[in-house]
Formats: sequence, C-alpha cells, structure tokens
Amino acid sequence: MECPFCHQDPDTYTLVHRLDGSGQVMACIPCAIQQGLYCEKHQVPHSGHDSGGTVCMECIKDDLREFAGEAPHFYTQLMDSLPEVERARIREWTDDMGDIWGEPALVVLRGLVMEARRRHVAITDVVQDVIVDNFADAILPRAY
Ligand SMILES: [Zn+2]
Ligand SMILES: [Zn+2]
Repeated sequence: MECPFCHQDPDTYTLVHRLDGSGQVMACIPCAIQQGLYCEKHQVPHSGHDSGGTVCMECIKDDLREFAGEAPHFYTQLMDSLPEVERARIREWTDDMGDIWGEPALVVLRGLVMEARRRHVAITDVVQDVIVDNFADAILPRAY
C-alpha cells in the first residue's frame, strides 16, 4: 500500500478524512499530521466537518472545558447583536440540544469552538465574524 501524500509504504496507516470533504483516505501518520488530518496531541484522526475541513473531537472537548467560563459572555455578545430572525434560529437549536449539551450558552460555545478549530482561528474571531455577517450560519448545524 502507498501513502497518497509521500508515496512511501509505511508500517502504520491511519484512516483520515480528506480536507475537501471527498471522503476518507489511508495515509501514514506523519503525513496525516502534516496535512492537519490527525491530532498529534491526542493521537487520533480528525473527524470530518459538514462545512469542509476537519476537527479533532478530543480538542473540541478540551476547548469546551477551557472556555466554559466565557460561554455566557460569547452568548450575550451574539444575542445582543444578531437580528431577531438569527436569534430565533439559535434558540431553536439550543432548545433542541439543551438536554444533551446543557444551557444555551454551552450549545452556542460548541458551535463556536467547532468553527474556530475548523478554520484555525480564535473563538473571538468567529464571534466577530458572525456579528459582522449578521448571520448565524457559521455556528449553526445545516438543519437550522
Ligand atoms: Zn505519507
Ligand atoms: Zn486533539
């Protein structure tokens, strides 16, 4: 077998999601890390993301713990700035997910963290982008 990135035949492969969302491919671990498809810290392949790109779900869990204290602040910033139609979409999502992910601010934090990891930017950048765009698509799942 040949790694599609280095064209070598290494001993260990990992199944990774392609960045363009075109499915999965077997790659050697050094290439998977280099391509940003495998988390070196957690030693797991990234998961694919609806909107393209990939994220390490373990890193997402770490971020959720790390930023939980700031979640109400991010939530208030968004809800104070977005038009009612976007706030309603966010409320519908946070109502649906509340039983699993907790209070609305924590559901929204999840959307922010996923987008930040996917795009390799800071959470505060995602908050700013959503406010500037007047549009919650960046943090909402496709169904909302
Ligand atoms: Zn390789
Ligand atoms: Zn990770």
